[in-house]
Amino acid sequence: MIPSVLPTYSRAPLSFVKGEGAWLTEADGTRYLDLGAGIAVNVLGHAHPGLVNALTDQAGALWHTSNLYQIPQQQALADKLVDATFADTVFFTNSGTEACELAVKMARKYWYDKGQKDRVEIITFSGSFHGRSAAGIAAAGSEKMIKGFGPILGGFVHVDWADHDALTAAINDNTAAIMIEPVQGEGGIRPLPDQCLKGLRDLCDEHGILLILDEVQCGVGRTGKLFAHEWSGITPDIMMVAKGIGGGFPLGAVLATEDAASGMTAGTHGSTYGGNPLGCAVGCAVMDIVSDRTFLDEVNRKAGLLRQRLEGLVASHPDVFESVRGAGMMLGIKCKAANTDVVAAGYRNHVIAVPAADNVIRLLPPLNISDDDIGEAISRLDAAAASLS
Ligand SMILES: *Cc1c(COP(=O)(O)O)cnc(C)c1O
Repeated sequence: MIPSVLPTYSRAPLSFVKGEGAWLTEADGTRYLDLGAGIAVNVLGHAHPGLVNALTDQAGALWHTSNLYQIPQQQALADKLVDATFADTVFFTNSGTEACELAVKMARKYWYDKGQKDRVEIITFSGSFHGRSAAGIAAAGSEKMIKGFGPILGGFVHVDWADHDALTAAINDNTAAIMIEPVQGEGGIRPLPDQCLKGLRDLCDEHGILLILDEVQCGVGRTGKLFAHEWSGITPDIMMVAKGIGGGFPLGAVLATEDAASGMTAGTHGSTYGGNPLGCAVGCAVMDIVSDRTFLDEVNRKAGLLRQRLEGLVASHPDVFESVRGAGMMLGIKCKAANTDVVAAGYRNHVIAVPAADNVIRLLPPLNISDDDIGEAISRLDAAAASLS
């Protein structure tokens, strides 16, 4: 008999009733160190007092009005994002995949309005992940995601990750945009080198193509800059954001330059819940903390500490682990043992990591994790690895 919850996830037998900082607690009081943070969502850990206040204050005042009216919290968050980034304008969504939908629509409308109606192709990369909506699965294009769900939304051209020749060959007069994650998350924590991102920007400029960055997982301070592309010095035309921006409250956004967004006039797009007062009040509180220079300096310091400790961990378990990769607090350990076995051994040692493709386990801790908790993470992962060898 089908479970009452549609069984699209194979879930671990864990269930939490409370969270505080980097820790999650089960009903019987057992505590787990959370190095997944809800897949890079809880950037400030669980039950951050500033976020709890922002949410409860707003909850006591006003939950919802439609986008037919002005929403001051939405305006405030849009202003913060515009001030802090390349973007001139922002549309709010409730998830990453909805941000993908708009990014695709925006790129196509841009060329339509320029009289280039056939310019609809969007180039994407193997191993990418852009969510589970119709455009999201078509964009990623992997067999696992699209099989059985045809007809798949057309117009996506898939190129092997890091295959520069294939990329240049894929470009033609109908190329509207290139869409890429600066650091692949689900694909196994694969950072795109800064020179490659610069090269992509140059290629886009040369051919007049829009560059869409999917920073749903790698954005919002995760790599030690507010957004990951800042490391390379380039800017995109359109950027997808979600996960960390709500600190655990469902919130996403599409950021764009004035030019890239020029086709999106009144009536061309909408969302009932997108940009609601609750989500945006929390988003403002997240941005105030995460966009601060001293906060990001601390993220970089802690990321360096975590990485150094992980390198040591990997070196002492050569039969279980292979190497560490990633950027900032978005780290992956390529495993020799099956990554799912490593994650399960972690559960037994009360530490939570997240599996990814390419036999990697992902470590995406809260950005404000303490040095003590980093030490605790290493000793628990050490015990987990020891139990496997
Ligand atoms: C998680 C993720 C998405 C999808 O976000 P949802 O909120 O699950 O729809 C899209 N792109 C990337 C890079 C992601 O990591």
